[in-house]
Amino acid sequence: MESSRKHCKAQKTCPKNHSKHHCKLCDDDDDANHLARDCPKGITLFHGTKISKVNSILKNGLKPSAKGRIGSGIYFAEAQIAEQVSRHRGQGTGVAIFQCRVNIQYCTKSTHPPWQGVTSSSFEEWLLTDTNKYRIMGVALIDGAIEDNIYFPRGEIFVSGNCQLKGQVKAGRISSNKSLN
Ligand SMILES: [Zn+2]
Ligand SMILES: [Zn+2]
Repeated sequence: MESSRKHCKAQKTCPKNHSKHHCKLCDDDDDANHLARDCPKGITLFHGTKISKVNSILKNGLKPSAKGRIGSGIYFAEAQIAEQVSRHRGQGTGVAIFQCRVNIQYCTKSTHPPWQGVTSSSFEEWLLTDTNKYRIMGVALIDGAIEDNIYFPRGEIFVSGNCQLKGQVKAGRISSNKSLN
């Protein structure tokens, strides 16, 4: 008699009580041995924006740009660049830098020329064209405030600067440093 598996193959890190694990990043993998955050097809990339967008992004995901420099989709960069872009978008308010696992098979990589007033040099950017193939793992919040409750039960929130979280926060973990990598 065949016994059915009680836990998914990702059981060492998966808290769910299920027999199969679906990795959002892998194409057809509905029986994955890893979490999306550890997906071997992905790399860790960052997306910076202003702090007022945090709750809508945690609820609905990152909003694809309709017309970006190299096309439509979601733009990612390395942490330091994403922070510089977020400060530009924050216009002096608080900023948010989302740490994501991104399936690079669905990305177009390109070199962005120096962005005057934003970055000091040219930088690599990744355009994710299949806008489902990523997972938000964490978010760094620098300065500013969030009035509403935050619901991010499996993710990590890094808080720094004068950032104030005024509502209730449900997160996997809250840290008081912003070291994203
Ligand atoms: Zn699982
Ligand atoms: Zn995967």
